[in-house]
Amino acid sequence: MTERSWSGDVSAHEAVGPGTEVGFLPMSERRLTVLSGPSGVGKSTVVAELRRAHPEVWLSVSVTTRRPRPGEVHGVHYFFVDNEEFDRLIESGELLEWAEFAGNRYGTPREPVLKKLAEGVPTLLEIDLEGARQVRRSMPEALLVFLAPPSWEELEKRLRGRGTEPEEVIARRLEAGRNEMAAEHEFDLSLVNTNVQDVCRRLIALMTDPQGVTTTTNREV
Ligand code: 5GP
Repeated sequence: MTERSWSGDVSAHEAVGPGTEVGFLPMSERRLTVLSGPSGVGKSTVVAELRRAHPEVWLSVSVTTRRPRPGEVHGVHYFFVDNEEFDRLIESGELLEWAEFAGNRYGTPREPVLKKLAEGVPTLLEIDLEGARQVRRSMPEALLVFLAPPSWEELEKRLRGRGTEPEEVIARRLEAGRNEMAAEHEFDLSLVNTNVQDVCRRLIALMTDPQGVTTTTNREV
């Protein structure tokens, strides 16, 4: 795992896309955290717990072309859009990053993220590996956290146990999962999702005290 410096007062902060360079942001405003990890690892459960227990953290709401699952609410879990609208968002540069995942497209609206960061609000993106790589390139000061399953078998069990996707979709997600697991070393640190509350506690510590970055992992190396 690479250890990236999280100290220092200022660093170049470049946003992707035309004419949107943010310039230099002080430490207090560099609170962008990215949470990634294979599908089924429990990212959305962690995010739901964060939303409940830590309303001070702002969670970016992504745009997706995927159909809503039962219980998902437009504007809360995702903004559900069609392909034409997604094309338009890409062309107009309104997305900070976007990626195709298992047959659907997902992206992070740029404007709200930059606004929250400028206000100094701890900000979290829950996105896939490709998206995390794009954020790494465009905002190198972001903290990239990998949520790992306790084991591969556990991941497969969780993905199937969700019962919301057909076998073909599960197979695609497992394939993507293998790819994501192989990229764990690209992240600043890993958290193993053995316990949702524990992961949330560690995440909050990271987001509110980035100096704790080296002591917050629960991953044996
Ligand atoms: P799901 O369909 O299970 O909600 O999400 C599938 C994958 O898309 C997950 O790995 C999730 O983290 C990722 N994802 C959700 N929103 C975004 C986004 O805005 N950008 C990117 N790149 N990935 C996203």
